[in-house]
Amino acid sequence: VIAEAAKEMDIKCYVIGGYVRDYLLQRGIPKDIDIVAVGSGIELAKKVASKLSGKPEISVFKNFGTAMLKNKGVELEFVGARKESYHFDSRKPVVEDGTLEDDQKRRDFTINALAISLNKDDYGTLLDPFDGISDLDNKLIRTPLDPDITYSDDPLRMMRAIRFASQLNFTIFPQSLDAITENKDRIQIISKERIVDELNKILSSPTPSLGLGLLHKTGLLEYILPELTALQGIEEIEGQRHKDNFWHTLEVVDNISKHTDNVWLRWAALLHDIGKAPTKKFDKKIGWTFHGHEFVGSKMTYKLFKRLRLPLNDKMKYVQKMVLMSSRPIVLAEDFVTDSAVRRLIFDAGDHVEDLMTLCEADITTKNPKKQKQYKN
Ligand code: ATP
Repeated sequence: VIAEAAKEMDIKCYVIGGYVRDYLLQRGIPKDIDIVAVGSGIELAKKVASKLSGKPEISVFKNFGTAMLKNKGVELEFVGARKESYHFDSRKPVVEDGTLEDDQKRRDFTINALAISLNKDDYGTLLDPFDGISDLDNKLIRTPLDPDITYSDDPLRMMRAIRFASQLNFTIFPQSLDAITENKDRIQIISKERIVDELNKILSSPTPSLGLGLLHKTGLLEYILPELTALQGIEEIEGQRHKDNFWHTLEVVDNISKHTDNVWLRWAALLHDIGKAPTKKFDKKIGWTFHGHEFVGSKMTYKLFKRLRLPLNDKMKYVQKMVLMSSRPIVLAEDFVTDSAVRRLIFDAGDHVEDLMTLCEADITTKNPKKQKQYKN
């Protein structure tokens, strides 16, 4: 239908971006399809809508030159091919009409710049000016242009690179990775909402430590979640060391992610030790202590959610509660508590007891078989 509409309007159109990438990766049928028209995307959307049975409604975003059409649960997004140029001090590009290749150049990564023709004379032809296909084969995230330009134009792309690496288990091309470290401070001009969107996608990926580790390695994490980077490192006093709570946290997040897709539980795992940096003390008699870190951590959770403009609703309270409870059962197990105390704890956890037990299970990092058995019990 789209091809027919474009033909009647005598314009060229292409499927582009995530749909082509995911189709080639056989990641299942994506729910949104981006269509680029060399001409007016909005007019094309209107024409397509008029041809579809049921005459679906379209939403037109005149300022962006785009139109969205929902049909049978699929979102079709139409845009006119455009050329974008940016000024250093502004996030808003200067936009002018362009060719398909101009439009491919404004895309963030080679694997997101792939287009498939919907035109009669070359229907189904893949248009790949930046060799995105070999990057798909080699599992590489690479910017189509000089990465310093790509990231400086829209610094969110640095997080998108890391998000795709984490979701797809791809490697970021060395120059494209080094440029993230070099441009990391530009992330500060990006809105919290866009940052959190990417963070949630990283947390929802199969092995979140891939993305979180890259955020840390490139220095982005320091801007986004300084509470977490504060956990990194091992101190030694009088021959006594504590574990590196940052890397431990990433392990816990991965373990949790094997058990649940619930992103709030993954958040709880991510934040469960954040109270340890401000509560860390060395006591000559007992060594390193983090007394009260659960309580401090749950308070920090509220502040962190507020700063990142995450909703301060019952999801936040749930994460707070999980942070507050996270290490209690383990402390209890170590103290050989009675059954009734454990039962009371389970009762306290209420609805979240299953999640809590999963979290505890993930936290069992001891290699001592006797202790492992004790914890399991
Ligand atoms: P997902 O649906 O998993 O978020 P996606 O690639 O479809 O992945 P979208 O955010 O829907 O991501 O973007 C669609 C396409 O638009 C991308 O494939 C890419 O070509 C382009 N795009 C999106 N955001 C940017 C950006 N910040 N800079 C450049 N191109 C972008």
